[in-house]
Amino acid sequence: MVEFNSVKEDTQAAAVLIAGAGPVGLALACDLARRGVRTRVVEQGESLFPGSRGKGLQPRSLEVLDDLGIGEAVMRESRPYPRMLPWEGGTQGEAFDLVERAAPRPGEPYSEIRLLPQWRTQELLYERLRSLGGEVEFGTRLTGLEQDGDGVRAELTARNGGTSAASAAFLVAADGGRSTVRKALGVGMNGESVDSRPALIADVRLAGLGSEYWHVWPQARGGPLALCPLDGTGLFQLAAQFTDESAPPESSPDYVRALVEKRSTLSAGDVQEVRWASLFRASAALADRFREGRVFLAGDAAHVHSPAGGQGLNTGLQDAYNLGWKLGQVLRHGASDALLDTYEEERLPLAADVLGLSTRVHRGQQKRGRETQQLDIGYRGSSLAHELRASPDGELRAGDRAPDALAVSAASSGEQSRQGERLRLFDEFRGPHWTLLSFGNARLPGSVPAGVRARRLTHTEEHAERAYGRGLFLVRPDGYVAVAADEWTASLTGLLPGLGLR
Ligand SMILES: Cc1cc2nc3c(=O)[nH]c(=O)nc-3n(C[C@H](O)[C@H](O)[C@H](O)COP(=O)(O)OP(=O)(O)OC[C@H]3O[C@@H](n4cnc5c(N)ncnc54)[C@H](O)[C@@H]3O)c2cc1C
Repeated sequence: MVEFNSVKEDTQAAAVLIAGAGPVGLALACDLARRGVRTRVVEQGESLFPGSRGKGLQPRSLEVLDDLGIGEAVMRESRPYPRMLPWEGGTQGEAFDLVERAAPRPGEPYSEIRLLPQWRTQELLYERLRSLGGEVEFGTRLTGLEQDGDGVRAELTARNGGTSAASAAFLVAADGGRSTVRKALGVGMNGESVDSRPALIADVRLAGLGSEYWHVWPQARGGPLALCPLDGTGLFQLAAQFTDESAPPESSPDYVRALVEKRSTLSAGDVQEVRWASLFRASAALADRFREGRVFLAGDAAHVHSPAGGQGLNTGLQDAYNLGWKLGQVLRHGASDALLDTYEEERLPLAADVLGLSTRVHRGQQKRGRETQQLDIGYRGSSLAHELRASPDGELRAGDRAPDALAVSAASSGEQSRQGERLRLFDEFRGPHWTLLSFGNARLPGSVPAGVRARRLTHTEEHAERAYGRGLFLVRPDGYVAVAADEWTASLTGLLPGLGLR
């Protein structure tokens, strides 16, 4: 345990302290900032992470980023995954699609994975955080923690070695796979090696290679090499595997240049810059618990995956999105602490499933299909999901992700001005509030709970009618149906406290 008596006292206690400004810590900080939750983010690095590693944003993440306010920027700067072009020596093979292509559907405006280097996703989140009044304290490492019933006290170490104490009601460990916080808590992380062969990943500036394709030399001597263009940056993400486990690779620029010459049609001189390079071995592991008292584990701190299938960053973003509104509800709206238990209840089993999925994709046992898009993930079995209809007439059930749809606002008391207005559900959902949808004239409450926006709607599209049918749908801030009912009833009112609503 840290000796806190010797560290400088915290004079600016926050409600939530976040360790780590990776994509997960930044996304959570954005969500909390827009909820008016006082948050401190500490990051041991001097700046944001510079590498492209988690470069695939899945459709469900695109919906989350849209809700967090950076949807347009992400779509503008990202691109669809390029087709893969296999090479055998200097001979080109036939290009193929690595990922499933699909046109946007009415309920799913983002239909396929988009490519955006992780450093750019992080920059966009950071810019968003700053626009919401938040900040990251760089060069500040969390080095110890203790907690009791009232809060958490963390020891922070600055780049000059000086220490200070930070107090907060809650701490979120978004400090990556080697999580200091997880280790300090003594939470176990169990898993397996997915591939014993080492791999190298790097961002390189190249001459002599077109950026239309993701170039791959699957049969290269020593192991496969892939060069994926990172649109608009002039860079490629290099990924190489090494079949000879006894000759470990290096990450120096000279090594990277020599490797490109050895395995591709390019020469060492074509590698104009090695901007970032890192070595790793694919593994899959899951923390035993996602909550320990006032501390929560999120992202890689809670689960690590093989990069295959593009699940790591995306699953971490969903963790942040699941936890953000619950912390907001407890800290700002007096919800019971029990609401926070549902974070582990909902996210741990899902992370376990995703671990299995990315391992199967890595081993070539499963394709990068619909399951990798995370659109079908839901919480039907959650203690927060209440299906009150005896015979639902739509496909949607409590716990499911509420799909997008175009609808028309119907007459409702106090809302005459909106009658006949065409609206899009995802526009209605966007923001930190809950949404109560009434389809087919289902009875709304006389007074809508604080923090909930009610809309009486009629369907305009067949798909919306098929999904929602008639009834009332109370949609959580993270876009999942908490309650589905035929009408507003006293038993529905009775559920509100458990959801953190009044
Ligand atoms: C080769 C490769 C390819 C990948 N491809 C994909 C992909 O296509 N799609 C996908 O979804 N995922 C992918 N991933 C995984 C993805 O990169 C990670 O899942 C993601 O970065 C996890 O985000 P995070 O915020 O949880 O952790 P991190 O990104 O690791 O961020 C943690 C942050 O915490 C900071 N930190 C650590 N300790 C402390 C401390 N004690 N105090 C303060 N700060 C601290 C670190 O400096 C870091 O900035 C890939 C990973 C690799 C290696």
